[in-house]
Amino acid sequence: MKKLLRPTYIIDKLDPNYRRSQLLQACLMMGVGALCLLAVINLAVFGDPVLALLDALGAVIAASLLYLVKRKRLLELVSWLFVLTLGLLITAFLSLAAGSNNGYLWTAVFPPFAFFLLGKTRGFWLTVVFFTIFLIQLYISIFVKQVPYLSLGGFLNTLEVFVISLLLYRFYEKTRTEANELLQEQSIRLEKMAKTDKLTQLYNRQYLDVTLFSLYKERRTLPISVLLLDVDLFKRINDEHGHLFGDEVLVKMAQRLTEVVRDDDVVGRWGGEEFLIIAPNTSKSDALGLAERVRRSLNMSITESVTTSVSIGVSSADRVKSPEELISQADRALYQAKSNGRNQVCSFISAVESHQRTINNKA
Ligand code: GH3
Ligand code: MG
Ligand code: MG
Repeated sequence: MKKLLRPTYIIDKLDPNYRRSQLLQACLMMGVGALCLLAVINLAVFGDPVLALLDALGAVIAASLLYLVKRKRLLELVSWLFVLTLGLLITAFLSLAAGSNNGYLWTAVFPPFAFFLLGKTRGFWLTVVFFTIFLIQLYISIFVKQVPYLSLGGFLNTLEVFVISLLLYRFYEKTRTEANELLQEQSIRLEKMAKTDKLTQLYNRQYLDVTLFSLYKERRTLPISVLLLDVDLFKRINDEHGHLFGDEVLVKMAQRLTEVVRDDDVVGRWGGEEFLIIAPNTSKSDALGLAERVRRSLNMSITESVTTSVSIGVSSADRVKSPEELISQADRALYQAKSNGRNQVCSFISAVESHQRTINNKA
């Protein structure tokens, strides 16, 4: 019951509920239009106000369902109501038509709606229930009411077609669902691959660029800082222990990085042995605190003879004009951290001050 009243949020066209919702909306919209037209015709042409009122009532019900699925997103509830109403309408029609004018053809539209809107299991059982009702009605038409042109042969033909279509629709629905699930899995995998660095499994440069750009736009409400990290003397590690060992070191450092940053921080591989942390909603002083924590965590022993360290440049988006400038300020601060002797944090401001001091000393 709870599930019926829970709204369904559809993210994109890959979502199986996207087409379900579309089918419902299209049918309900056509239903509203057709019933309004019938109400007018019944009143104006045939002079039957009772039938016209029934049509108008049907139009109001269809419009309410349309509202529930479109505005309130109650896809599950409306699917059930729609399929049950369809089954009951066919039942009522078969009782009235009593086997004449190929009325039985209407039973063929039930399973595609039931399976598509309710899935392969619920669709199957609901179709079993309604097919049974339709068969009982047919049985009554043939053997109780004894309508002309219908005999045991007609009953058996209908039964056989019901069984075959039930099995076929179940098969189709299973195939459709599986294909959809596979497509979704693959799309998630591709999306992850497109933004992940293969070696470290951190975000890649492309993703960092896009994220920095979008977070930068919100900098007035969420002050943003960046931390640019460069592994100290990494070439030496490669030279002394080999490139593969160097790769392992990068992977270990990346793991440690993900452990030490906060949940909202975006951490990725900027290139080679450089990492970038985008810290949203982080002031300059908070960014320096974070950088110091990161620096200490990455100052670690890999083996007895190999210890890593990083230099970090920090900049904040309060006085820059573009995301590129934010990065170039962090880069400048990083350069200063290296010049100051590595394994340390430097902010852009202190980099500028230090540069100024050097110039003053020279003068
Ligand atoms: P500094 O402290 O000045 O940064 O010294 P450094 O040795 O780290 O700097 P340098 O830029 O001279 O060397 C960086 C090295 O990082 C050189 C390059 O081969 C290595 N490197 C870059 N990407 C990878 C990688 O994916 N795997 C490995 N093993 N090494 C890499
Ligand atoms: Mg470097
Ligand atoms: Mg380096």
